[in-house]
Amino acid sequence: MKARADSAPFVRLFGRYLREQGLPVTHQREAVARVVFGSAEHLSVDDIERVLRSEGHRIGKATIYRALDLLVRSKLVAELDFGEGFKRYEHRLSEHPVHEHLICLECGKVTEFESNELYGVENRVRQEHGFQPVRRRLEIYGLCKECHDAGVELPIEGLMCPIETV
Ligand SMILES: [Zn+2]
Ligand SMILES: [Zn+2]
Repeated sequence: MKARADSAPFVRLFGRYLREQGLPVTHQREAVARVVFGSAEHLSVDDIERVLRSEGHRIGKATIYRALDLLVRSKLVAELDFGEGFKRYEHRLSEHPVHEHLICLECGKVTEFESNELYGVENRVRQEHGFQPVRRRLEIYGLCKECHDAGVELPIEGLMCPIETV
């Protein structure tokens, strides 16, 4: 797992948020926050539980879910749903706060990329539709390089013609 520089300032920010909300700053909540802020990955609850256990913490899933819910509400952590049947969580104030995602349908690897072209698209919709964009999300699903190189093939998605051509 890719490690990120220093999670301590963000754990302190989260502690401040909890106090402002009148909520207790517990060791469990801080431990969950440290895992998310200390990783550059897009973590599932299972991933987080695994890291906590490897660090000797015994924190149940319900407590992890509750801590993540608070982290998302604090706006320090983003919740992502890539249609995998579970949510993923990522630090919102990472080195690249604005980025898009590539999701490998074979191995589940999530890769980040940045796209200046999307700013152009936002400008165009502003002009063509008088629409004011505030946020956006682009997810591209497919095969990562490793899976593609390994020869994995995916069925073509898209429209299937229901009419039999004779
Ligand atoms: Zn892959
Ligand atoms: Zn990301």
